[in-house]
Amino acid sequence: MAQHDHQLHKGESLKEAARERLTHQGEQWTDMRAAVFEALAGFDKPASAYDIAEEVSKAQGRRVAANSVYRILDLFVAANLARRVESANAYVANEHPACLHDCIFLICDSCGQAVHIDDDRLTSGVRDAAKSAGFSAPRPVIQVRGTCGDCEPNG
Ligand SMILES: [Zn+2]
Ligand SMILES: [Zn+2]
Ligand SMILES: [Zn+2]
Repeated sequence: MAQHDHQLHKGESLKEAARERLTHQGEQWTDMRAAVFEALAGFDKPASAYDIAEEVSKAQGRRVAANSVYRILDLFVAANLARRVESANAYVANEHPACLHDCIFLICDSCGQAVHIDDDRLTSGVRDAAKSAGFSAPRPVIQVRGTCGDCEPNG
């Protein structure tokens, strides 16, 4: 991560970075996509398409189907705006839409919180190990499940 200007975005700056990234890829930042991203980024833990559809419905005062949210989330994942947390069947906004990393998520089984870290040295080791097993993993997401510091009774 030392070779580039690695930036983590939050709030308005995250929305702006996401919009920039998506439009850069020739996709439109429609009101619906903006609303889905805003809802996704507002969650402090991985959110399902249903959670997001509910938030967007509330914000827009009309029913938004989870199916249309799914399609937008797929687009976000492909465009590096979001990552899918398989084990939780949920999504998180990618805090670094402008750069590609194999994100690592530390997922708390007790409260559902996901801590996001990037360690390219570690993840390239995982890629190499996969490769030497004849396995191609173009964009692995590594998930570590356990208990977060807040939930661990003795710290
Ligand atoms: Zn980076
Ligand atoms: Zn990351
Ligand atoms: Zn926890």
